[in-house]
Amino acid sequence: MTLHLYNTFLRAKEPFAPIDPSNVRMYVCGPTVYDLAHIGNARPVIIFDVLYRLLRLIYGEGHVTYVRNITDVDDKINAAAREKNVPIAEITAATTAAYHADMAAIGALPPDHEPRATETIPEMVAMIETLIQKGHAYAADGHVLFAVQSFEDYGKLSRRDQDELIAGARVEVAPYKKYPGDFVLWKPSDADTPGWDSPWGRGRPGWHIECSAMSKKHLGVTFDIHGGGRDLIFPHHENEVAQSVCANAAPFARYWVHNGFLTVEGEKMSKSLGNFRTVRQELEKAPGEAIRLAMLKTHYRQPLDWSDDSLKEAREAVGKWYRAYREVTGGAKYEGEASVPPAFAAALCDDLNTPEARTLLDAYAGEVFTAKTPAAKEVALKHLLGAANLLGLLTQGPDDWFHSEKGALEPAEIERLIAARIAARKGKDFAEADRIRDELAAAGVILEDRPGGVTEWRRA
Ligand code: AMP
Ligand code: ZN
Repeated sequence: MTLHLYNTFLRAKEPFAPIDPSNVRMYVCGPTVYDLAHIGNARPVIIFDVLYRLLRLIYGEGHVTYVRNITDVDDKINAAAREKNVPIAEITAATTAAYHADMAAIGALPPDHEPRATETIPEMVAMIETLIQKGHAYAADGHVLFAVQSFEDYGKLSRRDQDELIAGARVEVAPYKKYPGDFVLWKPSDADTPGWDSPWGRGRPGWHIECSAMSKKHLGVTFDIHGGGRDLIFPHHENEVAQSVCANAAPFARYWVHNGFLTVEGEKMSKSLGNFRTVRQELEKAPGEAIRLAMLKTHYRQPLDWSDDSLKEAREAVGKWYRAYREVTGGAKYEGEASVPPAFAAALCDDLNTPEARTLLDAYAGEVFTAKTPAAKEVALKHLLGAANLLGLLTQGPDDWFHSEKGALEPAEIERLIAARIAARKGKDFAEADRIRDELAAAGVILEDRPGGVTEWRRA
């Protein structure tokens, strides 16, 4: 089973061969912490979480290092602090905590390292000094700029020529720039803006150097996979390549993996367009596992149009798989060992073919429903769970799923009404039993009577 990944650098799918199979290394650009994450920001988190889980399956849990940074120094953060009139540290701490909670709610494993830009300033300054010494950067007017013309391969990742590069970057033609395409490594800070002492005066880093320094610190100069949304290819990743290759005199990331956009009515979801919905808003509508499935049913490189209908459809599909699960365990979490079916691993190894994986999950759930004996049902469940868990799905017990979904009635109240209905039936008061069933139905709770007088419930 060989993993194949589409490498943006080659514009082709290729077999994945890590530098060191005992330590597969992946870096993904993390959030700039000035505001709540929107559901578009969650797309790379979920995609690279699936890739992380797959790498851990192939190479072993202790043999993958996943780094996702926190950008906690940025002009958008400074602007948000000014607007809300609160200290910068308050904004970054609160936003980081919210990010952690939201990403946990959508089932993403935490990365192995989560460096913060503000903890990596000395490494950034050292890298900028090296770039100056090697003639790839120059200081001017309190700024330090990267001289793109000093790097022959500039533009190779994004496949743009110099004119397009300048247009694409919407670069400011500042007087201190020797060439319009040169980009900022360091800029001066006034007294009201966060700043650190440096050989070029008190200032702060540009965004691109942050990732070059943080990836080097935690993964070394050359590592396996670098990921992020496709909007980052240019200028962010192009500039990371330039900085890292020139400073380290070594190759940088070997496989570049980029997810497509999450869109709303065909337009990229973004803060600036104002067409965004936060992860929190979506979690009000559906559980995290439904959000994951809605995200994964489209291949990661395709655009994905987000809608309430697709979220609802995903929620129903996950609910159906939990019903299959409940057929075997009666609602409890399965304690046996699950196993990943080879066909499922093969689908994910084909450049994360999650649409195919989803079809297979439906088939495995179908096998649970149709299996004739308890033993055969359990075998089918092992496949369903092994497969689903690899996508971060079916990670709780069926009762937890059916009972945690938001509804008008609390689970304790539902249990009380079910007990009252059972008592009414025992006393042959069928009118009362039906009335309770109707009351629950009106609150969106569906009852399923099982053999042996057991009644199970789920939200509609
Ligand atoms: P940002 O905080 O804007 O730098 O975004 C954080 C991550 O989310 C980056 O990997 C972006 O590429 C990604 N991202 C932002 N908006 C979208 C979107 N609408 N669809 C997919 N990925 C996105
Ligand atoms: Zn980055």
